[in-house]
Amino acid sequence: MEREDNRGEAEKQKALGIPEMYRELGISPQTYEFGAQVEGELRSRFDAIDDTTEYNQLKVLHAMQQCRVDASCFAATSGYGYNDYGRDKLEEVYAAVFHAEDALVRPQIACGTHALAVALSGNLRPGDELFSPVGKPYDTLEEVIGIRPSKGSLREYGVTYRQVDLLPDGSFDYENIQKALNERTRLVTIQRSKGYQTRPTLSVKRIGELIGFIKERKPDVICMVDNCYGEFVERIEPTDVGADLCVGSLIKNPGGGLAPIGGYIVGRHAYVEQAAYRLTSPGLGKEVGASLGVLPSFYQGLFLAPTVVGGALKGAIFAANLYERLGFSVIPNGTESRHDIIQAVTFGKPEGVIAFCQGIQAAAPVDSYVTPEPWDMPGYDSHVIMAAGAFVQGSSIELSADGPIKPPYAVYFQGGLTWQHAKCGILMSLQKLAEAGLVKLESPGL
Ligand SMILES: *Cc1c(COP(=O)(O)O)cnc(C)c1O
Repeated sequence: MEREDNRGEAEKQKALGIPEMYRELGISPQTYEFGAQVEGELRSRFDAIDDTTEYNQLKVLHAMQQCRVDASCFAATSGYGYNDYGRDKLEEVYAAVFHAEDALVRPQIACGTHALAVALSGNLRPGDELFSPVGKPYDTLEEVIGIRPSKGSLREYGVTYRQVDLLPDGSFDYENIQKALNERTRLVTIQRSKGYQTRPTLSVKRIGELIGFIKERKPDVICMVDNCYGEFVERIEPTDVGADLCVGSLIKNPGGGLAPIGGYIVGRHAYVEQAAYRLTSPGLGKEVGASLGVLPSFYQGLFLAPTVVGGALKGAIFAANLYERLGFSVIPNGTESRHDIIQAVTFGKPEGVIAFCQGIQAAAPVDSYVTPEPWDMPGYDSHVIMAAGAFVQGSSIELSADGPIKPPYAVYFQGGLTWQHAKCGILMSLQKLAEAGLVKLESPGL
């Protein structure tokens, strides 16, 4: 754009209010007004989220002060990365935030699945049994475990797997959990977030109750929590309620949108160490692994993470209430308490899923001009549409949405680096649905 044009734009925008700014972005006054009504009723919930953000901000700040983080932590190392002060210090900070003995926080961990695979394979040996008392784990874990036959799975190494599903009302099936525990049970894996299933997400308190039950019967078992999408949603983390290991991805919550790669494993020293021997090599463990230059973004991302997660949560609650009011089924519903940042909205027809995703894409800071279409994605049994205009590729702490084109035609969305952007994205999704004639906004459901 010519500089002259920019000046003209500046003159024009000076005179505009917020609704007019939304109109500049393509969001009609009706859409804006509908959103404003929904938002107006969410004040007390937003205040509660702000309190959690404040608490977690202080928790992270305190950890950084306690560990005496200083400018030398941000230096890059290369090669073997021996004596990488900033890397080791960051791991101390993570251990402090999670009230854990030790942590492994590395750019060499490619994603959440990799972090979980490292924690599992580092701590399981042939003949051991892995047990999930909360039903089927996240899709990608099926191949790690060998639930679906896969090269290099735990199953190929002689680790067996057992699972007990949640009861239909979402509670733990204690009777069958007790029966499933046996002398070979070595590690219990508990997934906090529902991921892309319809079961409820577990609160940290409920995770603590489950761990208590298991440890009472088998004190030496390792309790591991897949913490993906859960970090900083509550004031406590699974390590505060007895988890021996807690694992997640830095391109979700704890990276704060700034970490360009990475994962973490925190918990008891002996188990973190076992994971480190798997990540690098037996004998080397945590001693090697150059940080290259990513440490400033790891530190700063962690520092921002409580605020970013708060914004994403507000977006999820706003969307739940907005689409619920329009008559769509939403999980979690508009009033439920939250234990992760994922929101599902069921549209009942493909056009709804497509319009929603196209709205999220159109509101992105990156690639806003492209139009996502359903495609035949490897590993899925239906077409899938994905919307993501992120600074970090594939980042799902940034505003993103995806939906398989099959019944019940639900879309899963999450993230937003700021509440304001999440709101804009959700309004744009509504705008696209209205333009496609899939919703009517004249009478805002009052
Ligand atoms: C995202 C996620 C994973 C896997 O993380 P990737 O970074 O996609 O490999 C595992 N478990 C849960 C619950 C997740 O949400």
